[in-house]
Amino acid sequence: TPDLAARAAIALGLARTPPIVHAVDGVDLVIRKGEVMGLVGESGCGKSTLGRIVANIVEPSEGELRWRGRLQSEMNKAERHAAGLATQMIFQNPMAALNPRMSIEEIVAEAPRAHGLSKAEGRAYADRYMRMAGFDPAMKQRYPHEFSGGQRQRVNIARALAVQPEFLVCDESVAALDVSIQAQIINLFMDLREQLDLTYLFISHDLGVVEHISDRVAIMYLGRIVEEAPVGDIYARPNHPYTQALLSEVPRIETARRRFKPVGGELPSPLSPPSGCHFHPRCPFAMDRCRVEVPARLEVAPGHLSACHLNTP
Ligand code: SF4
Ligand code: MG
Repeated sequence: TPDLAARAAIALGLARTPPIVHAVDGVDLVIRKGEVMGLVGESGCGKSTLGRIVANIVEPSEGELRWRGRLQSEMNKAERHAAGLATQMIFQNPMAALNPRMSIEEIVAEAPRAHGLSKAEGRAYADRYMRMAGFDPAMKQRYPHEFSGGQRQRVNIARALAVQPEFLVCDESVAALDVSIQAQIINLFMDLREQLDLTYLFISHDLGVVEHISDRVAIMYLGRIVEEAPVGDIYARPNHPYTQALLSEVPRIETARRRFKPVGGELPSPLSPPSGCHFHPRCPFAMDRCRVEVPARLEVAPGHLSACHLNTP
């Protein structure tokens, strides 16, 4: 329920950190129209919660979301509804998101109705959305359990497209799929981006997938974005020690899968994150001030932001 999720957001410590999804002047995460923003972090860092906040599934416990530059609190109900429709979320487990008692056609046709649009429209265009998602409409009378994970994810995508979104939040959307199927779904996301002018927040622990798909990448650690940069820049010149640690574990052979490797030491509890820079207990460069002072995010190169005291000696 939204309530539980909202409490989860608080439990993640988001309430105690600077608001992570506000876009005023300090700007913690800005996603520009038409881009793919990759969001990387260890499990438990808050990236799913951030995704849910961005997708209007949970309310931020502090801070505010802007949509097209406008604060949600300034919008009326209809505008908020429209903003909610324009943003759709694709989850990791496609089966959990599909009603097993509904046929594929019903699932896709129902989506617009659940979002307050007309069911007739959903039905009229269901085949089109399935085709867009690479799902053969000839199989639309069948049920979710009759399909593979990849096909089910295509149904989820068709359902999201049926609401005519502008912005997709993908939370580990390919993580549960076989590698060859992952590539197909990622290519589908890229094709849809071209065809429909979509914007993405692509949440993943897989550095290889994120590098492939993203224009910009944000690295999250315990509820904070610690680094953000154009994709080529962050992979070639990571500034933050946490990002460096993540990338140093990555094999350099092109064909190798660039899996997220655990950084030395355990991820502290998000319920009581370390003081100052959250990363200090695991950071090889930690100084006294790191334990007390939260590092500001500074621009270390054009469009490249990093929150580390090493940048302000
Ligand atoms: Fe390490 Fe200090 Fe930089 Fe944090 S601020 S990443 S502890 S050097
Ligand atoms: Mg998650």
